[in-house]
Amino acid sequence: MGSARTAEQRQSRERGAVALSQRLRFGQFPEPQDGLRFLTSRRHEAHAKKSDGDITAAIRESEQWQEVMVPVLEQWAERRRRTKDGSRLKPGPAPMYSPEEFEVMELYRRVMGATSYRATVERLSGFGTHRDRRLLGFDQERQAIRRGEPITFPGVPSETAMSKYRSDIGDDEREELWSRFLTRLRRDYAALSDDDASRIFHLDGTHVRVQGQAPIVDPNTGEVVNDGINPRTGRPAITVPDGGYIPPFRKGTKGGHGFTLVPLLDNRGVPVAHAVERIHEAEKDIAVNVISSWAAELRPHYPTNVVRVLSADSGLNSPRVRIACRNAGIIENLHPVSHGDAPESRRRADDYDRMRWGIAGTDAFKLNGHRELVPMCGCGTPTIARQAWIGKLGKAYTRLKGTCSTCGETVTLTSGRKRRAQNPDSVVRKSYRDPELSADLAAGNPLTYNDPMSLQYGAARFSRGEGWNGALARRYKLNNKRRRFRSRRQVELETNIVFSIMVSLAIAGREHEAGAVQQQLAA
Ligand SMILES: [Zn+2]
Repeated sequence: MGSARTAEQRQSRERGAVALSQRLRFGQFPEPQDGLRFLTSRRHEAHAKKSDGDITAAIRESEQWQEVMVPVLEQWAERRRRTKDGSRLKPGPAPMYSPEEFEVMELYRRVMGATSYRATVERLSGFGTHRDRRLLGFDQERQAIRRGEPITFPGVPSETAMSKYRSDIGDDEREELWSRFLTRLRRDYAALSDDDASRIFHLDGTHVRVQGQAPIVDPNTGEVVNDGINPRTGRPAITVPDGGYIPPFRKGTKGGHGFTLVPLLDNRGVPVAHAVERIHEAEKDIAVNVISSWAAELRPHYPTNVVRVLSADSGLNSPRVRIACRNAGIIENLHPVSHGDAPESRRRADDYDRMRWGIAGTDAFKLNGHRELVPMCGCGTPTIARQAWIGKLGKAYTRLKGTCSTCGETVTLTSGRKRRAQNPDSVVRKSYRDPELSADLAAGNPLTYNDPMSLQYGAARFSRGEGWNGALARRYKLNNKRRRFRSRRQVELETNIVFSIMVSLAIAGREHEAGAVQQQLAA
């Protein structure tokens, strides 16, 4: 088959896609959304004319903060006032700032996108932020300025006070508290997520790189090769013991020492679940955990019994990711071939176009490598029907039906009922004795590489998903350069605070939208 023929095929396929997109019937599938903005973007906030102080104060006043954070923060305040065994009050003056005030500072720091506490104190001490100081209750002078400390406003907790607080409470407890806060926010957000935008998910990992050294393990011997003493500092060379390592790539902008953050985003860019793992862990495995944790913790709070769609790049194409999706009531929009423009991807896509696999039980149709129906009658493009539903146990099912409108041949493929077979290449009935992982879930999933509906979900992933990790880097600086994290706990704490801000903004945005709809109805 020459390349001319392939170009011709591609053209006819594109014409077909255009014709189809005008009469796509989404049925049980969510409708792809155009013109949706991230509820988490700076632009959205600017539109609402909110300063960093406004956002921080609004989160502090929220019922979620009052109900989840405040009771624990009050316990911590009591603990800090007492001696270690708790039997009596510490002598001397009580701490000048409460744990709640320290956590408000930590929140403000992430809202303003600062990577250091010092930058936060300096900004909040400045002339331009007196309104923020008042909003956050730091506008009254409390401490005398000590010699040797940078000059800051004497009502803003100093770096020394903050580091004392951090070491008193510890990363573990703080991370757990922020994690509980985030979970509560996500549940409340889920209860507001009753539209198609919240049924379309994207999953795309990003590297959170650290300045220190994680253990580097020799893949052949399994031994750590970089432990010992750093001659420059005289301290252990490994400073991030629970971090991971992969050799740097893309001119050193990816890889190295650190962690991988895998967020599950809805179509508004809201991170509804996530996981942080060592940078060398397989993204597929992390994805399985993220999807499963969403299903266990969040799914019961969403409108039930609706089919959701998750798009991810070809790197996540694996039977285990597909099974995790189905178990969570999600149809995966996931392809073995990348949609990227690299010549290699294009060549591979063309190869998959040309493949022909038999389908046990019919001679009228075959599958190409993308698991798209190819009619053998030669009449042309068949009519495709896409079905999806949620079964009794909450799993997602999907079915692909092809009909030749000219000669009337039909075929129905139900995803999960077929497995791959070789000699000749084909899909055959999967018996109940075959292991679950042997099912070819892609066969019978209508969201294939060239499917116009799949393209619409995927387009959203490229314009939003790729942009999302960039926004995370620009706005919150979580993943833009190597950070000074010393442990996974610290990365998780940072992520929990940043994601709490995003979900809080999303809740406010959804409530605002609901209010606008109410007003329109009343008018
Ligand atoms: Zn036909």
